[in-house]
Amino acid sequence: MKIKSSALLLILLIVSLLAISATAQTAPHFDGQTWWNHIKFLADDKLEGRDTGSRGEREAQAYAVEQLKRAGAEPAGVNGFYQPVKFVSRQIVEKDCSLVLIRDVEGKPKREALTLGDDAIISTRVMPAPEVEAPLVFVGYGLKVPEKNYDDFAGVDIRGKIIVILAGSPSEIPGALASHYQTAAERWKVLRAAGAVGIVSLINPASMDIPWSRMALNRAHPNMEYPCPEFNETEGAKLAVTVNPASAEKFFAGSGHTFEEIAVLGKDRKPLPHFPLAVSLAAKTKVDVTRIESANLVAKIPGGDPALKDEYVVLSAHLDHIGIGEPINGDRIYNGAMDNGSGSALVLDMAASFKKNPDKLRRSILLVLVTGEEKGLLGSKYFAAHPTVAPKSIVADVNADMFLPIVPLKLLTVQGLNESDLGDRVREVALSFGVRTQSDPEPLRNIFVRSDQYSFVRHGVPAVMLDIAPEPGSPEMKIFKDWLTQRYHAPSDDVDQPVDLAAAAKYEEIVRALLINIANSDHRPEWKPDSFFRRYAESAKMGE
Ligand SMILES: [Zn+2]
Repeated sequence: MKIKSSALLLILLIVSLLAISATAQTAPHFDGQTWWNHIKFLADDKLEGRDTGSRGEREAQAYAVEQLKRAGAEPAGVNGFYQPVKFVSRQIVEKDCSLVLIRDVEGKPKREALTLGDDAIISTRVMPAPEVEAPLVFVGYGLKVPEKNYDDFAGVDIRGKIIVILAGSPSEIPGALASHYQTAAERWKVLRAAGAVGIVSLINPASMDIPWSRMALNRAHPNMEYPCPEFNETEGAKLAVTVNPASAEKFFAGSGHTFEEIAVLGKDRKPLPHFPLAVSLAAKTKVDVTRIESANLVAKIPGGDPALKDEYVVLSAHLDHIGIGEPINGDRIYNGAMDNGSGSALVLDMAASFKKNPDKLRRSILLVLVTGEEKGLLGSKYFAAHPTVAPKSIVADVNADMFLPIVPLKLLTVQGLNESDLGDRVREVALSFGVRTQSDPEPLRNIFVRSDQYSFVRHGVPAVMLDIAPEPGSPEMKIFKDWLTQRYHAPSDDVDQPVDLAAAAKYEEIVRALLINIANSDHRPEWKPDSFFRRYAESAKMGE
């Protein structure tokens, strides 16, 4: 049947124009399916959870290199796509370790042994001394933030002592700054100067991503470090211990305070008291040290502007995960589908999309798949300190890590939203896809310093990370909370979980549009004048 009415034709024309603009907006570069197919490979049991330096990680890297080649991306590492890195790996030998609380009872020392795993964990993020015994002093959040005239150590003598802190920060310190000062590197600068020998961290029950039982389960998992003074952030540290909130009262007995009282204050980021504890801590430790080799992968999508093509917009994601661990429900393989198969797959999809639709790029895009993120951002720390392109040619980092497309994409939490004008660009680009943005609503979780964007920030590069967020107050909140409790760093973060492919595709569109925005604008991204992190850009400039 033919349509003859011109009015109908006009309507049809309008409808088809609307359809075209709708596709332009929801954009045709991604369908969610290629993304999911990459994840199916990366998170397959045969890759054994892609632990740093493992066979599974090497297989994931070989796959990624194959995909990058197929997409026509150019190798930009040291050895083709690879930038080799070497680590030392530290594994606790728990049968040869002990933690004992010693209290004075009528002039005699009374010893109370802590049960490792149940009461506390000896962390290998620092290299523990074989034997330490020292008095304990509670110093609140254990933070010194000169910019806010905040000092938990004012008037407290911690020389030769082990400090006890509640993980977290007071509300007067903005989230990103508070997170920054809670990193091991910043903490140990202060502790070293004041002469502390160790740290006992009491987990803030208000910010536990995963329950203690699961944290304790994999406490024997190795930690790693890049064996070079430049990367030794905890020099002088003899002991680091993490305490089960359920056992924390043992540390407060006889002090006139309780952990319950402290936890209530810490939940709302309120000021905490400081006081000596009535116990000392004696620790014996043994650690096995081995050497590990791994690599970052670096690929380039070249830009075309003669004046700007040697500047780079980095898209980063960590390819490693935590490997094989203690079984949960009979499953030992920690597949890491969302963490961070999701971000790695996005990088591969992005490369392919630029081959298929070669939008004009002025600056080049550098795709960086880092290793060792789960061991403390090691691969990105190394890359940011020793990039395979000129350091000052990196104009921005957009990091993708576990962006969780488990609900429809309407809202993004943007780490770094208010630190540089990258945040403004994210806001604008997201809005063009009908997506709103918010700054981190949960500063206690320290997400800003917990993924690879922070390594770039430390070298002066404006950086953001975008995460799909639940609508505040909606039932989606519970979906995210349950995901963290049950699947985060568990074997069930695998390909048998529900994901929203449309949300993943839309997220990829936003990242792609953001990369093009950064690559093509006249000016490179700038730190906000009042951003604390601007100082790293200035010191990078001075170091030229
Ligand atoms: Zn992780």
